[in-house]
Amino acid sequence: MALNSSMNDALWIRQKAVEHTALFRNSIPLIASENLMSPLTKEMVISDFNNRYAEGLPGHRYYQGNKIVDEMETRVEELVKKLFRSKQADVRPISGTNANQALVFAFLNPGETILTPSLDSGAHISSAQFGAVGMRGCNIKNMAFDTVNMRVDVDGTRKAILAEKPKVVLFGFSVFLFPAPIKELKETIDEVGSTIWYDGAHVLGLIAGGKFQDPLREGADVISGSTHKTFPGPQHGVILGNTDDEKWKKVRRGVFPGVISNHHIGAMAGLGVTAAEMMDYGESYASAIIENAKTLGGELYSRGFNVLAEKNGFTESHTLLIDVKKQGGGKHVAEELEKNFIILNKNMIPGDSNTKAQDPSGIRIGTQEATRIGMGKSEMSHIADLMDRALKGNNVKDEVIELKKGFQEVRYCYGKERGYDFIELYR
Ligand SMILES: *Cc1c(COP(=O)(O)O)cnc(C)c1O
Repeated sequence: MALNSSMNDALWIRQKAVEHTALFRNSIPLIASENLMSPLTKEMVISDFNNRYAEGLPGHRYYQGNKIVDEMETRVEELVKKLFRSKQADVRPISGTNANQALVFAFLNPGETILTPSLDSGAHISSAQFGAVGMRGCNIKNMAFDTVNMRVDVDGTRKAILAEKPKVVLFGFSVFLFPAPIKELKETIDEVGSTIWYDGAHVLGLIAGGKFQDPLREGADVISGSTHKTFPGPQHGVILGNTDDEKWKKVRRGVFPGVISNHHIGAMAGLGVTAAEMMDYGESYASAIIENAKTLGGELYSRGFNVLAEKNGFTESHTLLIDVKKQGGGKHVAEELEKNFIILNKNMIPGDSNTKAQDPSGIRIGTQEATRIGMGKSEMSHIADLMDRALKGNNVKDEVIELKKGFQEVRYCYGKERGYDFIELYR
């Protein structure tokens, strides 16, 4: 049968998915914002849930056919609240940025002030002038940052809070090496009456495992997060709350009808499954991620890499930030490693101006995905060696592929040993 050209296009795209899957099967994954779904979670993402609409909240929908979705969504919300010990949860945001948009709508009017970290101290674009916060027309002030210790500078930030009296104080980083000083600043923040928003996109899985910090117990009103970074679920978002009913009502309205209509129900079911898996495996998974990050930091440092925050043990999370100016800059280093199937990203480091986003001075590494497939300390040492030799001009691609062969299965989730096998419900 002759294929018409549109079908050729479709099959070409499918072929790209096959090639892409093979590329990642052979690569060492070190991007700090990515992860792998469990088999049971994957099943939710391709189930019929994914074909449906369920605007609003359980029991208050606009369409028919939502009876089972309502039961499921209610259970997912309960599970997420239990996992994070939060008073409230909204499981509808379809990504971390989308959760952030909802909170901006909920808590900030145009012209009001928000205190956030600056981009070169590791903030995410959604809290910048050209991101969600800027698009709301808010007045952005930056908190002080201690670039030697790679932490928020408590005294400087206290002064900024008292001077600016921001409506919202946002703690959140895409390079989140150390816990944010919520406890230390809580009293000052309460004095000026700001809402405390913690953007846990990167560290949500570490918080779920009880291994980073516990923002809600430390005084945060709300947490926004992505559910696919250290939290190893589907690409989706979440908001957790420990706040009063009036503020929470604003959050609910910020989400819907504020920034979403349909909320990607298959992904939401996947979030629930991953939350259940994190109840059982979150603690051991989070510990292993952090141990691997510290180990990899040390192994790279001992090979001459300028891993930042050395005096503080490099990191207390999944992330490492490395100054690679001497090795040719972030763009060059990331591209050289990519040629050898080691996948990570170039990244701004403190001191880089905002114009340097395309060729920053650093690289960022995350250990959450490598940990997810069972890699441990000896593999971290092996990876540091491979990176070192690759950047000295050696071709280590075949060694990378060989190493990766032994690490093809997702761990820290329900599988055959727990009586569950991937059954592809909707073949
Ligand atoms: C990744 C990230 C986000 C955005 O999350 P998406 O799910 O990619 O939209 C928001 N905030 C921070 C701090 C992030 O690192």
